[in-house]
Amino acid sequence: MKKIVLVIIDGLGDESISELGNKTPLEAAKTPNFDYLAKDGICGLMIPFKFRWQEYPTSDVAHVALLGFDPKKYYLGRGVYEAFGAGVNLKEGDIALRVNFATVDKNLKIIDRRAGRIEETKELIKALNKIKVKGADFYIKKAFGHRAVLRIRSNQKLSCNITDGDPHKVGVKVKKIKPKDKTKEAKFTAEILNQFLEKAHQVLETHPLNQKRKKKKLLPANYLLVRGAGSLRKIPTFKEKFGLKACCIAGGTLYKGIGKALGMDLIKVRGANGKPNTNLKGKFTTAKNVLKKYNFVFLHIKATDNLAEDGKFIEKMKFIEKIDQNIQYLISNNKQNKFLLTITADHCTSSKLKHHISAPVPILIWGSKQKDSVDKFSEKSCKKGKLKKFNSIKLLSTLLYLAKNF
Ligand code: ZN
Repeated sequence: MKKIVLVIIDGLGDESISELGNKTPLEAAKTPNFDYLAKDGICGLMIPFKFRWQEYPTSDVAHVALLGFDPKKYYLGRGVYEAFGAGVNLKEGDIALRVNFATVDKNLKIIDRRAGRIEETKELIKALNKIKVKGADFYIKKAFGHRAVLRIRSNQKLSCNITDGDPHKVGVKVKKIKPKDKTKEAKFTAEILNQFLEKAHQVLETHPLNQKRKKKKLLPANYLLVRGAGSLRKIPTFKEKFGLKACCIAGGTLYKGIGKALGMDLIKVRGANGKPNTNLKGKFTTAKNVLKKYNFVFLHIKATDNLAEDGKFIEKMKFIEKIDQNIQYLISNNKQNKFLLTITADHCTSSKLKHHISAPVPILIWGSKQKDSVDKFSEKSCKKGKLKKFNSIKLLSTLLYLAKNF
């Protein structure tokens, strides 16, 4: 059986943009390597998974599906993935949430959801980890920039069926956490979390670091906005489900966390940071090297999505070109098609609308004996591909079939 490399370029697909001659950033980009792979392989369109209640696909849910795990059964909640990605250890029954350090006024109205994008939160976190709440242990860990993750652990049963504290707007009051159902567990979890957040506010308000920030006319990080509660439960690992030894190469916390939650080994690459200046060469070279040890490599590239969300379609196009140039470090010396390479996305992100959209994503699979007439990798040309249009939940079974029957 062939080994499999799955490259996910986050938010790769896009809409036509008049400034790009009515082309999408992927169409407008010069991508000789992608086009070669498309020509030598098979293409199609993949429909990203979203829950019925979601307007657009989100990265976390979409990834769980394309990695072969039905989100209806196996989605654990954003907080769990963020916590795993930040290196927090979790055990079954733990609740995890995403945290923003934020600034509120004395009436708890939000002034800034990111506390002036504060970075230096280590001292604050140290103080917060001393807070005691009856009935549960709270542990907070620093994540990227102004972000952190919060773990709740208790001898009593907890539930992640609770509301967010983050109203996602400034100028309004922070939200109290409420249970979303009538269970004892949800009520208890909301109660202790509210207690913790109140104490955290007191600790932060009087913390010397915040006093110093105020003197320097910087926004104090005096409130924790929490969201995305998830709870860890036992699910099969990638190895158990598909029989493949898998690893994950990613810079973004969420994607490392998804890999970890599925039991993949996380491979560190120097300079892989989830940004446009990420170490693409390092990531692709590493992917090639670790193929000796693993049957399945999940490689994630983030910046395409962020650039589109900022409306930077030219930068997105240029970044796609950079990925194309660097993929040579993965494909060189694979002329005998030693592995199966898939390039696709978790969802499309519109640079015009600056958010995710529900359109299907282009996909190419190279390294099997199959071919079709597509000779360019783009949203439009992939329509004519042999893979046609299929749901992302089918991706893994397709790859396994091709890997076994090459
Ligand atoms: Zn995404």
